[in-house]
Amino acid sequence: MQLPLAFCNRMQRELGDDYAAFLASYQEDAQKGLRVNRGYIADEKLLPLLRVPYEPVPYQAGAYYYRGYLGQHPLHQAGAFYLQDPSAMLTAAAVAIEPHHFVLDLCAAPGGKSTQLAPKVPQGLLVSNEIDLGRAKILMGNLERMGYANTMTTSLAPAVMADLFGAVFDVVVVDAPCSGEGMFRKTPAAVDEWSEANVNLCAARQKEILDAAARLVKEGGLLVYSTCTFSHQENEQSVRYLLDTGDFEGQMPTPEVVAATVAGDMPFCRRFYPHLGRGEGHFVAVLRRTKAADIPPKIAPKRLLSAKERQATETFLQAAAGHVPTGELCYVNNQVCLVPRAMPVPPYGALSAGVKLGELQASRKGLRIEPHHMLFKCLPLLQRLDLAWDDPRVAQYLHGESLSLDVPDGWGTMCVEGCPVGGYKAVDGILKNHYPKGLRV
Ligand code: SAM
Repeated sequence: MQLPLAFCNRMQRELGDDYAAFLASYQEDAQKGLRVNRGYIADEKLLPLLRVPYEPVPYQAGAYYYRGYLGQHPLHQAGAFYLQDPSAMLTAAAVAIEPHHFVLDLCAAPGGKSTQLAPKVPQGLLVSNEIDLGRAKILMGNLERMGYANTMTTSLAPAVMADLFGAVFDVVVVDAPCSGEGMFRKTPAAVDEWSEANVNLCAARQKEILDAAARLVKEGGLLVYSTCTFSHQENEQSVRYLLDTGDFEGQMPTPEVVAATVAGDMPFCRRFYPHLGRGEGHFVAVLRRTKAADIPPKIAPKRLLSAKERQATETFLQAAAGHVPTGELCYVNNQVCLVPRAMPVPPYGALSAGVKLGELQASRKGLRIEPHHMLFKCLPLLQRLDLAWDDPRVAQYLHGESLSLDVPDGWGTMCVEGCPVGGYKAVDGILKNHYPKGLRV
């Protein structure tokens, strides 16, 4: 791999005697990692099924280094695990998140940090925002694949997020767009895109994002700043910019992350290098807001369903799931969603919130719900078909084929090793496939 000369010169100046080991690490393969979706499956059940060598990642429970190829595995399609560079897991591992916390992932696509954060707040909420609409849809797809019902996906500029939500979050994660120097091994295209001019551009953009992020953190709340680059300009200098506001102070990350990293220019700023650890390259810093940000939210009330619409939805839920789960039934992006009561839904910019149940449609028999894929991923239905991952019918289902099977008529969930993959409608012994066309293999 031909690394940019200006990058090499700078790293040599910064690393001194360590530079040779740093450079040699580029002769090795990128390190791979996975995180188990413990809401769907236990580590002890999943790992032997994957048939690859694995070892635990010390700073994130349920995360493993592995070798091999898992992207096409049916259990990946089912959301049983998420693939991620182990050093990228440092961001969400750096902060002690409480189960009830209200968390914002401000630059969230494709969802590495969000899928790690969502299970840390089982009684709380996660807002996953991505400015780029195309990438926000990928993010939403990943959150759906993993079945996280306590999340909302938005696609808004950070400054608009701050205007709408105000300073309400316990934790704001800024995994900033950066020059990607830590991606060179994993994504060689990042080498061609690198330039000193781009480092400058990224540093300026990071400050803009931090201006907005700072306005979203409540007093005493935390801001986690991370990048996958080594440049001090994009890392410590961005942190210094925030400290200079006088509203934040540095805070040491969790002991597990401190143990896995080396100190940056300030002791609470932590760096991860590929020659010192098992991963690509990362920077993380945790800051606490010490002064209140006086920014009131401008969130409008949710668009609730009419009595008739609510009755049709509840009748459907009662028949398919055997009960009506708690939450508010409202419209988000023209879909009927079951949203946690405490989740504020902005008047625009939200792609989904809570569990997307589906679309209400008028039929001869009255209103009916056309179920959304997320309903099958998040709500346990009464009817489930659970197959082993190597059962040929799993591949047929993932291809979009219908299956013949003697089961009662009605909506049901296709599961693989207990993990929900998607929906079907059983009619006269035929399981009509409701796995979304865009996801079919
Ligand atoms: N956190 C993600 C994950 O773990 O999967 C990776 C985020 S990536 C490093 C940075 C993201 O910031 C990109 O998805 C990019 O589209 C987004 N971005 C680019 N420009 C931005 C801006 N001006 N404001 C906010 N986000 C921006």
